[in-house]
Amino acid sequence: MSEKFDVIVVGAGPAGTACAYTCAKNGLNVLLIERGEYPGSKNVMGGVLYRKQLEEIIPEFWKEAPLERPVIEQRFWMLDKESVVQFGYKGLEWGQEPYNNFTILRAQFDQWFAKKAVEAGALLINETVVKECLVEDGKVVGVRTDRPDGDLFADVVVLADGVNSLLGKQLGFHKEFRPDEVALTVMEVINLPKDKINDRFNLSENQGCTIEIFGDSTKGNLGTAFLYTNKESLNIGVGTTLSSMTKAKLRPYDLLDHLKTHPMVKPYLEGGESAEYLAHLIPEGGYRSVPKVAGNGVVVVGDAAQLVNAIHREGSNMAMSSGKMAAEAIIQAKNDGDYSESSLNRYREALYDSFIIKDLEKYKDAAHTFEKHPQYFNDYVPMMNQAASKFFTVDGTPKREKQKQIMQSITKEKGRIKVLQDLYRAWKAVK
Ligand SMILES: Cc1cc2nc3c(=O)[nH]c(=O)nc-3n(C[C@H](O)[C@H](O)[C@H](O)COP(=O)(O)OP(=O)(O)OC[C@H]3O[C@@H](n4cnc5c(N)ncnc54)[C@H](O)[C@@H]3O)c2cc1C
Repeated sequence: MSEKFDVIVVGAGPAGTACAYTCAKNGLNVLLIERGEYPGSKNVMGGVLYRKQLEEIIPEFWKEAPLERPVIEQRFWMLDKESVVQFGYKGLEWGQEPYNNFTILRAQFDQWFAKKAVEAGALLINETVVKECLVEDGKVVGVRTDRPDGDLFADVVVLADGVNSLLGKQLGFHKEFRPDEVALTVMEVINLPKDKINDRFNLSENQGCTIEIFGDSTKGNLGTAFLYTNKESLNIGVGTTLSSMTKAKLRPYDLLDHLKTHPMVKPYLEGGESAEYLAHLIPEGGYRSVPKVAGNGVVVVGDAAQLVNAIHREGSNMAMSSGKMAAEAIIQAKNDGDYSESSLNRYREALYDSFIIKDLEKYKDAAHTFEKHPQYFNDYVPMMNQAASKFFTVDGTPKREKQKQIMQSITKEKGRIKVLQDLYRAWKAVK
């Protein structure tokens, strides 16, 4: 195949497909290359898809996309060994148009999304690995695939090859990521009848719930766990940064077993049947890890550009929006006949002007702070649980006295100054 394309997109995940769809819809000649047997076959996600960013690409997608449940409740758990402090929000408005977000299964969703790109005019080839970018005179001019005679050419190559982005590394856009810049997450899909899910999570037909779990879910290490409802299955997973995992000598599958057998979690899973076991990395370096995203004839989108807001578990939406922004810059570049770095830097400008980089910038110190000061997960989560237990146990002690005792036990354990310092540091990291 020696045909030259306007655009070659490497990777049919949310970022690559959003870019391919937008380019094809605007009349560009697009090739989308996926190494998996089909889009989504290798992809892993906890499962929350945000409405807003996909709607900007495919209006009213919820009328046709393979979605599981609209999420009407988001819960947050501070988990101790045998207790949990919980808070969250449930709103029926999220169960109807225009919706807030949905749970999805990636194998189904990615196939549907890629089909939309193909319908818009993109050519999709599966089971094809891009081994390297072809560079001539400092400009990316195509890709080398693992197919016989597998060199393919384009005006622009889009690197949407996910968190490891070997191609980005080959081009010198980023180095090997440090263990504190990536989290390893393992998850399981557990089949459970619809009625059981609805009863256990207090849901009606076509309503979903997400639970983010901190504290004992990661044995007090930096990281989170999640439990999400699909139509007839649950997604449960847990992850920590590679550095925390190594430091605490944790094995990811042991963490997942620990979570599944925790007395606060186990009742939700009872009677379920394991359908799938998956593991994947998540880029968590944030703002400071975002690499160069545009070069001569090349742009980098989604996880390959480290665009994940781990605090708000937003990744797929950032992937799609970055793919769309990159496509818009490529369309403009085609109109101008200029595929240089300075032309494609329009994508970088749009990215840095958007919620994506603004949000990553807001939390730029968070991961580092919480990793360096493990007391937030180790000490304060158990303290919150003990305080709640004490406060809500009716034992004849006046409430004001209880408040005093709780404050005394916290400051006795940590010291008043230390507690104030910790509070200030946490506030600074997320303000
Ligand atoms: C356990 C887990 C839970 C998550 N939960 C959420 C969540 O609830 N909500 C959310 O918004 N985000 C979540 N995320 C993050 C989200 O999954 C990612 O941010 C998103 O998938 C990034 O999309 P992408 O297209 O950039 O990369 P990917 O989805 O990783 O897609 C990359 C694609 O490129 C292909 N590819 C890679 N290399 C090559 C190559 N050389 N040649 C050809 N093809 C190649 C891959 O097969 C893959 O299809 C989660 C991630 C994980 C791991």
